[in-house]
Parts: sequence; structure tokens; C-alpha cells
Amino acid sequence: MKAIRVSEFGEPDVMRLEEVPDPQPGATQVVVRVRAAGVNPVDAYVRGGAHTRRPTLPYTPGSDAGGVVESVGTEVKRFKVGDRVYVRWSLSGTYAELALCEEAHVHPLPERVSFAQGAGVGVPYATAHRALFGRAQARAGETVLVHGASGGVGVAAVQLARAAGMAVVGTGGTREGRELVAREGAHHVLDHRSPDYLEELAGLTDGRGADVILEMLANVNLDRDLGALARFGRVVVIGNRGRIEINPRDGMTREATVHCMSLFNVAPAELDSIHAALVAGLEAGTLRPVVGKELPLAEAARAHREVMEPGSYGKIVLTP
Ligand code: NAP
Repeated sequence: MKAIRVSEFGEPDVMRLEEVPDPQPGATQVVVRVRAAGVNPVDAYVRGGAHTRRPTLPYTPGSDAGGVVESVGTEVKRFKVGDRVYVRWSLSGTYAELALCEEAHVHPLPERVSFAQGAGVGVPYATAHRALFGRAQARAGETVLVHGASGGVGVAAVQLARAAGMAVVGTGGTREGRELVAREGAHHVLDHRSPDYLEELAGLTDGRGADVILEMLANVNLDRDLGALARFGRVVVIGNRGRIEINPRDGMTREATVHCMSLFNVAPAELDSIHAALVAGLEAGTLRPVVGKELPLAEAARAHREVMEPGSYGKIVLTP
């Protein structure tokens, strides 16, 4: 099969399309024919070599995919050859024609969800779910600011919060991105490139502020987030790309909490529960991954450059 291989950490061009042996499933494993692979920022951090996770070289990137079961091990019970599935983790990497997975890391893909959309579920939706419910303990009736709502995690968070009965405010940096955020369920949309947009948030909440802020770029926003919270508000740091100075007094006066999260820390049983909720949402149509761009697998380097650029519009996926 063809697969993207990384033989040294470095710039996007270290990713090469190569011929490698087809994977064979062990007893508890499934091989999935990848119809689309999701591109996440973490794939780019890992490829660059700066992430705490450093796979043994050479490796194939990617954890997320939508596809069809190609073969199953002798002990596999939940799937048979031909089933439509999405993948949340792969032993061999999803930037490939075939992906080897543990049965537990594969989930049914409802008919109404395309393979490309299925490639956008794993990391983004599990992260948004964990942040909103696991960390912030957000409840119906609360106001949630999705700070960076136009990308993979942001769109997922908007849909999850809206379906759970929260008042949703989302931000985007481009007009197209903001239109997407509104279409996917935000009650109000703000422009995080405009200077005074967080003052508008105060106006939208009668001066109370947001109960929960899901933060995609904490090194830019965390200080102002603390000032934009309601009393007893919670920030969840999801994305961060540098350092920031904060004024703890803003948190103090509100008795605010800053939660941080990493999907890598979530226990397997909790991830199983999260994905059970995600499958239900995909079936019901409350969760609708948005694919902004499909690129051929051979253009993985371009996908990695673009996923790190501003102007997000849902997910970028690679098609073998
Ligand atoms: P993505 O699809 O590239 O989206 C990035 C988002 O950040 C876009 O909505 C973008 O908006 C927004 N953004 C850019 N500048 C911003 C600003 N000044 N203020 C607020 N938002 C801003 O990435 P993603 O997959 O959604 O992931 C988002 C972040 O979370 C990434 O840093 C990623 O590494 C991280 N992440 C962390 C975990 C974890 O476990 N902690 C898991 C998944 C992802 P515009 O492009 O419209 O400006």
C-alpha cells in the first residue's frame, strides 16, 4: 500500500509518499481502508519533532480517519468486513491507504456522515467533548465562549454546546469562518481580529461575562479571558503556542478556574464513553463535522502548512 512516511523530524517536506507492506490484523485488531484521513495540528507538532510524543522513526502520521473495514482479527466482535467506520487512533498511522487499529479505537460511521466527515471526528470532537463536559462541567443554560470556533475543535464545540442547551458565542478570524460558526449553531459570532470584540461579549451577557471559555490560543487570550468570565467561570486551555502574562486578580474577583487539558491524558474508559456520545450525536445529526478542504494524500506537506495558518474553515482531510 501507499503511505506517507516520516524518516526524520523536520519541516513538512520530510513527509514522503512511499510503498510499504499492507498491515495484517492481530486477533483484536481491525484493518481499515482509509477513504479520508483527518489532519490535526498535533500531527504537525509531532512531525516537527518538538512535541513530547516522539514516535520511533520512520513512522506514518495521523490518528483520525473515515473508511471501510478491510479485514478483522479472530477475536473482533463489533465489526465485519465492509462496515463503514471512523478511526480515533491507529497503530500504523492513518495517512495511508490502510490503517491498522485496535477494535476499541474504531467506531461505526452512520450512513448520513461521509467518510471525509468521519475523518474529522476523532481528535476534534473528543477534545471538544472533554473540554466542555469533562473539564468545564458546562451545563444547559450557561453561556459558552468558543474562542476560536472556525477550526476542527471549535466547530465541534459549537455543535456540542448548542445541542446541550447552552448559549453559544463563537469567534472566527475571517468572514467565511464566522459565517460557518453561525451556521453550525452559535447564537452570536465575534471577530477575534477586531480590537474590542470581548467588550461585545459583555453586552451579549448583560455584563455578566461567559460561564465557560474554551480557549484555542491561550498564549494570546488567557489574560483577557479571565476578565471576560462571569463569577465562578471556567476557562479550558485547549490550544497554546507560547507564553503569556496574566493578571490573577481578574480570576480572583470572579473565583474563576483555569483548567488545562490534553486528550492524551483521558483514560480509555472515559474515551469510550465520549465516543459513545459522539456516535449518538452523529446518528441524530446534531454533530456534523465540516470539511473545508480535501487534498490528495501526496499533498500531506501542503496540508501541514495550511493547518498551521490562520483562516480556518472546519477540517482539512487527505484522500488516498
Ligand atoms: P484548527 O482547525 O487549525 O483551528 C484553529 C482555530 O484557532 C481557528 O478557529 C482559528 O480561527 C483560531 N484562532 C486563530 N487565532 C486566534 C485568536 N487570536 N484567538 C482565538 N482563536 C484563534 O485547529 P484545531 O484542530 O481546531 O485545534 C485548535 C487548537 O487546539 C490547536 O492549537 C491544537 O493544537 C489544539 N488542540 C489541543 C488538544 C488538546 O488535547 N489539548 C486537542 C486538539 C487540538 P481563524 O483561523 O478563523 O482565525
